[in-house]
Amino acid sequence: MSAPIAVFPGSFDPVTVGHFSIVERALPLFERIYIGLGRNTGKKSMFPLEKRMEWLEVTFKDMAQVEVVSFEGLTVDLCRKLHATFILRGLRNSTDHGYERSIALMNMQIGKVDTLFLPSAPEHAHVSSTIVREMIANNASVEAFVPPGVRIA
Ligand code: ADP
Repeated sequence: MSAPIAVFPGSFDPVTVGHFSIVERALPLFERIYIGLGRNTGKKSMFPLEKRMEWLEVTFKDMAQVEVVSFEGLTVDLCRKLHATFILRGLRNSTDHGYERSIALMNMQIGKVDTLFLPSAPEHAHVSSTIVREMIANNASVEAFVPPGVRIA
């Protein structure tokens, strides 16, 4: 039996070292991981979709098992389309846990898709796209928090 396929959904605004670490650690578990860049979260993003996509592609270019796709709609519908049986998510803290658990239960009920949670690496537990955006907005350097290919000019 071949290994399952996973979707790692998010807004990646921008992609961070925290995201990278989750994908890197999940790689041995899956035949393929699709990074699902969501287009319809109702969130106003700091960076345009094309830029977020470009950064994701640069970040994961050396991982043959990883493919970046953008999508609109429910994650479970993307999973069905891509034959993915798992959603991959990272957990930083108990706030993430409470929120993610509800979404995971909903996805299980409506899409019969299971969610695999990986705890954030200890050195990344404080890293979030939200904080990175806040730093960018205030002209602070974010080099330590984003993958090397991500150049925020
Ligand atoms: P969303 O808007 O769907 O939360 P994000 O791009 O913020 O999308 O996050 C995508 C996934 O990456 C989520 O599961 C989130 O918990 C996880 N994640 C984000 N930052 C980290 C981090 N520093 N460590 C571990 N997981 C993380």
